[in-house]
Amino acid sequence: MMTCFPALMYYFWVCLEYHQGKLLVPSQWTIEALTDFFWHDIWAKIQVGAYPTTAAVKIYMGYVTLSFILAYIMPGPIVEGLPIPSLKGKKLKYLCNGLSSWYFTLALSAVLHVTGVFRLTSIIDNFAGIMTVAIIWGFTMSALVYLYSNLTGQNHRMSGNFFYDFFMGAPLNPRIGHVDLKMWAEIRVPWPVLFYISLSCALKQWETRGTVTPPVAFMVLAHFLYVNACQKGEECIPPSWDIFYEKDGFMLIFWNMAGVPFTYCYSSIYLMKYELLTGTAILHSMPYTVFLFALLLTGYYIFDTGNSQKNRFRMEQNGIFFTRNAFPQLPWGHLKNPSYIKTKHGNLLLTSGWWGIARKPHYTADLMMAISWGLITGFGSFLPYFYFCFFVCVLTHRVSRDMERCASKYGDDWVLYCQKVPYIFIPFIY
Ligand code: NDP
Repeated sequence: MMTCFPALMYYFWVCLEYHQGKLLVPSQWTIEALTDFFWHDIWAKIQVGAYPTTAAVKIYMGYVTLSFILAYIMPGPIVEGLPIPSLKGKKLKYLCNGLSSWYFTLALSAVLHVTGVFRLTSIIDNFAGIMTVAIIWGFTMSALVYLYSNLTGQNHRMSGNFFYDFFMGAPLNPRIGHVDLKMWAEIRVPWPVLFYISLSCALKQWETRGTVTPPVAFMVLAHFLYVNACQKGEECIPPSWDIFYEKDGFMLIFWNMAGVPFTYCYSSIYLMKYELLTGTAILHSMPYTVFLFALLLTGYYIFDTGNSQKNRFRMEQNGIFFTRNAFPQLPWGHLKNPSYIKTKHGNLLLTSGWWGIARKPHYTADLMMAISWGLITGFGSFLPYFYFCFFVCVLTHRVSRDMERCASKYGDDWVLYCQKVPYIFIPFIY
């Protein structure tokens, strides 16, 4: 996976950049044809188009540095995490300044763009170079975190197999000062970068045709909603599985630094490139467009309120809940007097709201949004559907790991919970 991820990212970029999103295949399946395919069709294009130029380094590392500084200095509420068993029950504190950092970044980027100091269209103009910088940074940061935690003895649950441990990670809660590197990497880099790639595509379209088409505007809205949700609900993240249990390894670091922003953006780039290459924009009928906006917004509503219901319930249970009126607060995001199962372990399992309907309602909602990102581009290329297909695999794998973990953690109580809420994704179907 550590070699295939970057290779796939370059391959998809070549298909998108030079072949209108069509998947390239060798002319024949012989060694000569494959070698020729690699050197001429892929490598030659990477060398020319994806070189990590100085501009690319400045854009990507500039943003990464800015986002880290903001995470360090911007104001926000301080939230206490769950007691961490590997730290002998110690609770860590998290400065949740994602929202103030996000608003500051939006304002700063608007000023830079309008004044011409940094045109946001430069992002898409330097896309492949920036992707290379992100890939290099993904490996570098993974190596630094791995080395540092091994040298300082902060590694946990190590298997002894170097490749597996490097992939899954060594430390649980690496920090620089008060900034939790895992939480920073998870929401401060991937989603804002993804949003800016889409915004850059929209601005490019605006510059070339004078308007922004509904599908391109759709992608900007979709990515805005996602990044905004991550920042406005940041205080819900410390008790989540990723922070509490997952280690900070290549899987999380590379995927957050490079994988998410540079593969989840195919829809936006495909829409923009299609028009540049063919001279015709991708447009759909009004009912189809309205249907997709409804699908996106419904998915978003369930995603937002589903995550919010469970996390706020858990925060109340741990005595760390506080009201936060970050925009938008949607109805049904906070359940009053919910039903639950009290486990012998001590934790409560929510059985009200979306959580009485399915065991992973927020995954279903996330997948609804993911498929809408593909459908808005039509059916001319597989690449805008890559995110949905990949995400199905990620979430299926996550569900099986999570169910296994919860079954062993909660025993009979988990069996009772599964009887009470029998469906995982969609009631009466699965
Ligand atoms: P969850 O929010 O589902 O967290 C799982 C944990 O929640 C379980 O281990 C359990 O922890 C607790 N839990 C499960 N059921 C209940 C219940 N009924 N009541 C109370 N607690 C319960 O998982 P994720 O962290 O994977 O997902 C969070 C969000 O992030 C989702 O919306 C997901 O779609 C999104 N996501 C997006 C990704 C992307 O690339 N776009 C990637 C990954 C996630 P405990 O042991 O404490 O009981």
